[in-house]
Order: sequence, then structure tokens, then C-alpha cells
Amino acid sequence: MELNVNKSNNGSGAEVHTNMLIIGAGPAGLAAGLYAARAELEPVILTGMTVGGQVAITHVIENYPGFPEGLPGPELGELFKTQAERFGARVVYDTATEVDFSVRPYRIKTYNGTYTADVVIITTGATPRYLGVPGEEDFTGRGVSYCGTCDGFFFKGKEVVVVGGGDSALEEGIFLTRYADKVTVVHRRDELRASPILQKRALDNTKMNFIWDTIIDSIEGDETVSNVKLKNKKSGEESQYETDGVFIFIGHTPNSQMFVDQLEMDEAGYLVVNKFMETNVSGVYAAGEIADPNFRQVITSAGMGASAAIQAIRYLQEKG
Ligand code: NAP
Repeated sequence: MELNVNKSNNGSGAEVHTNMLIIGAGPAGLAAGLYAARAELEPVILTGMTVGGQVAITHVIENYPGFPEGLPGPELGELFKTQAERFGARVVYDTATEVDFSVRPYRIKTYNGTYTADVVIITTGATPRYLGVPGEEDFTGRGVSYCGTCDGFFFKGKEVVVVGGGDSALEEGIFLTRYADKVTVVHRRDELRASPILQKRALDNTKMNFIWDTIIDSIEGDETVSNVKLKNKKSGEESQYETDGVFIFIGHTPNSQMFVDQLEMDEAGYLVVNKFMETNVSGVYAAGEIADPNFRQVITSAGMGASAAIQAIRYLQEKG
């Protein structure tokens, strides 16, 4: 069931009240929605930009239990959504822009209107981190990308550089070898951070090669990217490397800007929660990558979402 916000809340300032508002529709938000819906709370889930969160831009998910052959990320995201909706969760294609947790019920402004909610679960996730080098912004969409699944197709028969040494860099790098003739991983150390299984797959892949101890100083080109300037961190040697594209996978930044001065967060901007997923404001919970700098797996995010919903249901029951 999809709630048409424009019908129920025409953006003229009218408010919609809900027992539970979930901000974000990744694995954490949709799992929270499933549990709350099964408790007949009819939660409203605000999707933000995408349903499925980062899952929606992941080519294949191989480590979510129950799918031994793996499945495409967007499909898993849709399954999460369908299951939550089956029990009465209302998925709304709208984005929260402002929250006020100082008075009850809590008030959440969106692009299309305003909600009030007795409890709120925040599952806004994290977005890819930028390198911050000259050329990166200018060439975004013209050779610089943060999503192999989205943009890999444009690099058929070409050569690309992947930046980073974690699971994302290697997983996406391996995926890019479907299209690109050559994938060069540029990593700032001589040791990868990624899990052993991905390391082995990448190192064994004949289309992949590695440049170690190296950072990218700038991204250059004309209409599109044509080369990167590299610097070896150990020797200081500078060089130019020709490439058609640069895929950047160097971690994530939590999407917590909206909660500054409202909720406690750590120095990196992750929301601080206790073991019950409670933030420092009673009745406000956080789950998934917005509150998890450590694990960031589909299963751990979904688990946190379920925990937050269970705790929120208990809280609402106690409050009558
Ligand atoms: P990550 O594990 O934090 O790795 C980021 C990588 O980027 C590291 O190798 C890091 O180098 C490098 N890096 C960071 N800042 C940089 C900079 N300014 N310039 C150059 N390199 C930089 O991030 P991730 O790969 O996105 O993974 C995030 C989480 O998601 C992890 O917990 C990961 O296990 C999980 N994940 C899991 C899967 C899976 O299970 N299949 C897939 C994707 C992601 P250093 O190593 O030197 O720090």
C-alpha cells in the first residue's frame, strides 16, 4: 500500500499524524517497518531518494542468508518493501528535510508536508565519501562515479581506475571487469582491507591489476576523464596514468546532518545508540549504517532495524 502524500497532505502545511515514522527505506528502515506493521502500528516509511538504500545500487548480494545463489541488490530491496507493505507499512516517496524532537509528538517536515509521530526510527544510512581532489567534482558523471552497478555499462571495452582497498572497492572492481577491459585498483597502502574471499577473487582476476602505496592527486581530462595524476606515498614519485573512468569507493559518511543539535552523535557523525537502539531522546531510535560504523552489512542493518522496532513497540505499549 502506497500513501500518496499529495492527497493526504497537500503540502499546504496540513499535518499527518502517525504512530511511528521511519526515516529511510534501506534494509534497516524496511525491516523496522515490517516489525512495526506486524504489530499493527501502520508505520509510515519515508523513502528518501531510493527504496533499498545502498542495496539498490549493489549488483549482487551474496551474503544475505536465505539466498544461497545470491540475488540482485535491487531485487532484495523490493522484496523487503513488499514484505513490509504486506502487513500494512505505508511506503511514501518523500524525503524528510527537518526534524523537531524538542516537543511531543515529534515533528518531521518533508518535501511535501509535515508529519507528527509518537515514535521515530532513523535509518537514513550513509553516502559514499568523496576523495576531495581537483577534477573529482567537475568530472562526476563524465568519468567519475561512485557506483559500478549504475555506471559500469558506459565503460564497455574501456579502462577504469578503482580507488580504495575495502570490500566495496574490490566487489565493485570485480563487477566492472564485466564491462571494462582493464580495472586498475589504486590503493594507498600495500595491504588490502577487504575480506579474504574478495581479495582472492580480485587478485586472481586477470583483468585486474593493482597500484600499491599510491594516492590520486588529481583527475584530468577534456570532455570526459582521460588520466589521473598519481603519487607514490613511499617514494614520493609522481606519475600520470591514462584511464577512461575513476570509480571511488573509500568508505561512507553518515547521513546525520539533519540531526545536528538534536541527537547525540560521535565525532564522525554517527548517531549514538544504546543496545536497544535508543538515541538520547526518548522515543527516537536509530538503526543501520547511520548508527553503525563497524559492521555495515545488509543483515546487521536489517537486524538493527528489527531491534529498534521491537523496542519502539514496547515503548508505545508502556505509554499506552
Ligand atoms: P572501508 O572498509 O572503510 O574501506 C575504505 C577503503 O578506502 C580502505 O581501503 C581505505 O584505505 C580507503 N580510503 C579511505 N579514505 C581514503 C582516501 N582519502 N584516499 C584513498 N583511499 C582511502 O569502506 P567500504 O569498502 O565501503 O566498506 C564499508 C563497510 O561495508 C565495511 O564494513 C565492509 O565490510 C562492508 N561491505 C561489505 C561487503 C560484502 O560483505 N560483500 C561489500 C561492500 C561493503 P585504508 O585501508 O588504508 O584505510
